[in-house]
Amino acid sequence: MTTMPRRLLIEQGGPGHRGPALPRCDVPTRPVTEHLRGARLRAELRLPEVSEPEVVRHFVELSTLNHHIDRGLYPLGSCTMKHNPKINDEIAGLAGFALAHPLGDDAANQGALRVIRELEKALAAISGFAAVSTQPAAGAQGEMTGLLMIRAHHRARGEGETRRRVIVPDSAHGTNPASVHLVGYETVVIPSEAHATVDLDALRGALDERAAAVMLTVPNTLGLFEPRIREITALAHAAGAQVYMDGANMNALVGLVRPGDLGFDVMHINLHKTFSTPHGGGGPGAGPVAVAAHLEPYLPAPRVVERDGRYALDEDRPRSIGRVHSFHGNFGILLRALVYVSTLGPEGLRAVSRTAILNANYLMRRLAGRYDLPHPEHCMHEFVLSGRGLKRHGVKTLDVAKRLLDFGVHAPTVYFPLIVDEALMIEPTETETLDRLDHFAAAMERIADEAAANPQTLLDAPHTTPVGRLDEARAARELKLHWASSGAARPAAAPASARG
Ligand SMILES: *Cc1c(COP(=O)(O)O)cnc(C)c1O
Repeated sequence: MTTMPRRLLIEQGGPGHRGPALPRCDVPTRPVTEHLRGARLRAELRLPEVSEPEVVRHFVELSTLNHHIDRGLYPLGSCTMKHNPKINDEIAGLAGFALAHPLGDDAANQGALRVIRELEKALAAISGFAAVSTQPAAGAQGEMTGLLMIRAHHRARGEGETRRRVIVPDSAHGTNPASVHLVGYETVVIPSEAHATVDLDALRGALDERAAAVMLTVPNTLGLFEPRIREITALAHAAGAQVYMDGANMNALVGLVRPGDLGFDVMHINLHKTFSTPHGGGGPGAGPVAVAAHLEPYLPAPRVVERDGRYALDEDRPRSIGRVHSFHGNFGILLRALVYVSTLGPEGLRAVSRTAILNANYLMRRLAGRYDLPHPEHCMHEFVLSGRGLKRHGVKTLDVAKRLLDFGVHAPTVYFPLIVDEALMIEPTETETLDRLDHFAAAMERIADEAAANPQTLLDAPHTTPVGRLDEARAARELKLHWASSGAARPAAAPASARG
């Protein structure tokens, strides 16, 4: 609990509060305006004047208001919220990397170019594909990049006008149809079978001369492995379509299976999920794409090439779809992923997947008695429960999610995938100890008991967080786009023109 009222930084401190104590200036001082001829500085611009302890406390306190992976379990299905090893950040903070300039010439950027090239090679080895581009900044952008390459492939074969449909199973992540739309294609949704695998008859029916691609999420969005992938990729290829793998959830596959061996043509990998680079709160991320040899010429340009131990940028890529990101993508994230891959090595990465699968199956079996488990097959890195059994107590999945916060656990993904009623999609990841998994399971069990004995506890939850249940629509109904001083902090109010 805070004892001081919570305030913005600009409402704290006061005139003369400073962070650094600088030595006395030993050169003559001159006003800034001498250097900025003709520029008009905003004399009324009000900046916070705060001391270092005020800034440190401000941000440390803010960091405790929200749930995040450094505070506790974050079993958000499909998101792979795993621990981010601190050595990743330490190396990304080294001056040679952190201060590298993207406009520096190749000679100056040898180290950074090598990082990109080494990561591409590692991801190609892990995925079993011929080549990788690290430009896309997110999984969704990787999907778009992959589909643009598929479009270029069909155009080069003179089928650009006829093949404009992409077949997507109904369990897919929402970004799949969105990416299809972005490249000007049309989505054809096919249903899943009762046990959540692809309905092959529906697939056959949709595969005709208008099909540009099939998009498949592996493992599927219920955390289950599709057993007939080779059959699906063969069917698609026989019909002239390409096969895209949504590899955002590679945490169950790394070191165990290479998608390139299963007949896929292109995939994206979410570094900010499987490869431990931080995410949540909106990024930054990286969604590299990996392609089979026939799509390599279409990869985003420029490419990092290696000649005689030197690295250079190759802009001469006439068939490339072009740039999808400025410079080289989110370099700091690429670097962290390379550190992660290098510190674990092949055996370590295999252990990651195995442990992630084990943890998910452990929780699934333990919770199956208390919650509905619509798909009880062995799961991969995640599983989906249904809260439909709680409805008879007047309690919903949303209430379970809110109550979990009182136990120091972030909610699982709720109401997704859409094909499960009252879905709770749980992904513990490999970085949680048995202790933590048991704590989560005990919390879930207690919540199930509470639903029957005292449902109001759940309906009013969370009880221990800085804010309780939010009115989720109010921020949209009562838009506040300007900051207005609370007036509490500073003796002298700023002029009105400086506000907001
Ligand atoms: C997370 C995810 C995406 C999208 O990735 P972003 O980086 O959020 O754009 C796509 N597909 C699946 C299956 C995902 O889990």
